Amino acid sequence: MIIDGKKTAAELREKLKKKVADLKSKHNAVPGLTVILVGEDTPSKIYVKNKEKSAIEVGINSEVIRYPADLEEKVLLEKIKELNNNNKVSGILVQLPLPKHIDKRKVIENIDPGKDVDGFHPMNVGNLSSGHDSSIPCTPLGCSLLLKKVEKNLSGKHAVVIGRSNLNGKPMTQLLLKENCTVTITHSKTKDLKAECLRADIIIAAVGMPKLVRGDWVKKGAIVIDVGINKTDSGLVGDVDFDSVSKVAKAITPVPGGVGPMTIACLLNNTVECFEKAHTE
Ligand code: NAP
Repeated sequence: MIIDGKKTAAELREKLKKKVADLKSKHNAVPGLTVILVGEDTPSKIYVKNKEKSAIEVGINSEVIRYPADLEEKVLLEKIKELNNNNKVSGILVQLPLPKHIDKRKVIENIDPGKDVDGFHPMNVGNLSSGHDSSIPCTPLGCSLLLKKVEKNLSGKHAVVIGRSNLNGKPMTQLLLKENCTVTITHSKTKDLKAECLRADIIIAAVGMPKLVRGDWVKKGAIVIDVGINKTDSGLVGDVDFDSVSKVAKAITPVPGGVGPMTIACLLNNTVECFEKAHTE
């Protein structure tokens, strides 16, 4: 089975579109997403454009604030404060990476946790790891929705997460624990990654190394989710060697067309959730 991220993301967007329309008639207001882009990083500009387009498609009020790369940190913090206090703004996303002179941690910590659609604020990170309600980082959330497409009940499965970043590996581990998986988290210092992978019922690869996971690393019938996006001479490839792994896996996400499309759909989902929470408090 090839897990179709494009289709699943389109289904989620359709569901959100209906929900936004319902919220509009109930509250006479729609969720609002404000994205802040600092500088001229080309991939960031593309991501922000795609986020804006998708938000508009589902009826979310979308705003992009663009600043030059030499923006003073205090100006950015002031803007975040203003957005925190603006009840038309349900979600705030500061596109990363930020220029080096701006303290990323300080910026994230200044976003109201109730508007933190990326799920990076320490309060949301803590809530997720304590098993409480929280904003969940978009890419791991997308991965878990794709896993659920293959199997509804993941209880007791042995999952191996490759990569321990705050963006992907760590929150993914928490989500798998929530599903009662037994989780092994691996990283660049792991001694025998192949042996770890061979024990897995579920592999989540979030490394950034083209085709690291090969067919002979994967147990027959395993589910493989490929988060990696790597530019190579032969185009975009994941962290998983699709050709060899798809012969042994029960289900696998392709790159492109797997996890990638889910990330933005989950951002919209988080924005709608922040709006709903703000209107029930
Ligand atoms: P990251 O912050 O660079 O983290 C990479 C992780 O991989 C680190 O924990 C690192 O270990 C580990 N690692 C490096 N080499 C390894 C090896 N040989 N064996 C095992 N683990 C190894 O990367 P990231 O931000 O999580 O992103 C990972 C990939 O996902 C990238 O390709 C990125 O482009 C992609 N991505 C995709 C989406 C999407 O929407 N599909 C979203 C975000 C990111 P250490 O901690 O020991 O250094």
